[in-house]
Amino acid sequence: MKILDGKKIFSDIKSELKKEVSNLKKNNLKSPHLAAVLIGNNPASLTYVNAKVRACKEIGFGSTVITLPQEISQTDLLKEIDELNNSKKIDGIIVQLPIPSHIDENTVIHRISYKKDVDGFHPINLGRMVLGLPCFLPATPFGIITLIEKYNIQTLGQKCLVIGRSNIVGTPISILMSRNKNFGNCTVTLAHSKTKNLKSLSLDSDIIIVAIGSPHFLKKEMVKKSAVVIDVGIHRIPSELKRSGFELIGDVHTDVSDLASYMTPVPGGVGPMTIASLLKNTLYSAKKVIY
Ligand code: NAP
Repeated sequence: MKILDGKKIFSDIKSELKKEVSNLKKNNLKSPHLAAVLIGNNPASLTYVNAKVRACKEIGFGSTVITLPQEISQTDLLKEIDELNNSKKIDGIIVQLPIPSHIDENTVIHRISYKKDVDGFHPINLGRMVLGLPCFLPATPFGIITLIEKYNIQTLGQKCLVIGRSNIVGTPISILMSRNKNFGNCTVTLAHSKTKNLKSLSLDSDIIIVAIGSPHFLKKEMVKKSAVVIDVGIHRIPSELKRSGFELIGDVHTDVSDLASYMTPVPGGVGPMTIASLLKNTLYSAKKVIY
């Protein structure tokens, strides 16, 4: 089994982006700048935002974190987003999910200017993705496609099963895997919680992408020999063996590695690729290559 090493590809992409920043500076252009909105004090959200800010610093991007209280009203949050939309300094805006339940997630996502929507969640970007038009691809699916491309995984005519149909991962990756493009052209099945006979579908699949949020859900007996397995899930499980007190595990059981030809690790697979995509989208926004 070969590891689809997201950490390594992320490091390569950061080196490329660093060069892009120095070229911009040579031409007296400003560095790309990412704004991250963090609401409340969810430790996982804080970790994700810190990782994104750290990556920005490493490659010379500017970054701004707007930390807001858990009780912020939707009106006040939308005002913050409007300010970021109007700021000439800011190229990319993300609102770290999940957001508090008294705020409507869609209203917030739709308020971010699609021209600064570097997470690729806005309906204009998703719609343009479906139509094959230039857009900010959603960060996690973009990261998965990049990983597949970097490892030259054969996709043409392959049977791909996507498990999970969220707007941010499952649904968009199912579209990207089926489009008529290099590293697409799969015959895709999109499974969800109402799917019957999931095991027979997964046993028949060449590529399996799991994004359901259920620890170690996909097991060895559900996978055929030489399948490519991509694990999007990420869970913090208490662990006495780790100094931090927890370990990170995915939606795929580690025993799948006995059969898979390629597999993403957790951590170090899809997670870093999501950040890599976010940075790439922020650069595209600063260079105005899409809008
Ligand atoms: P989500 O919004 O929580 O949706 C889960 C999806 O999985 C739903 O479509 C649900 O079906 C389906 N599902 C749940 N249980 C199932 C089952 N037993 N069999 C088949 N389908 C099932 O998902 P998400 O936001 O995409 O997140 C999924 C996981 O990926 C989470 O662990 C999340 O933390 C992780 N994640 C990681 C990254 C990264 O960068 N590594 C990025 C995003 C998300 P229904 O639609 O029928 O309810």
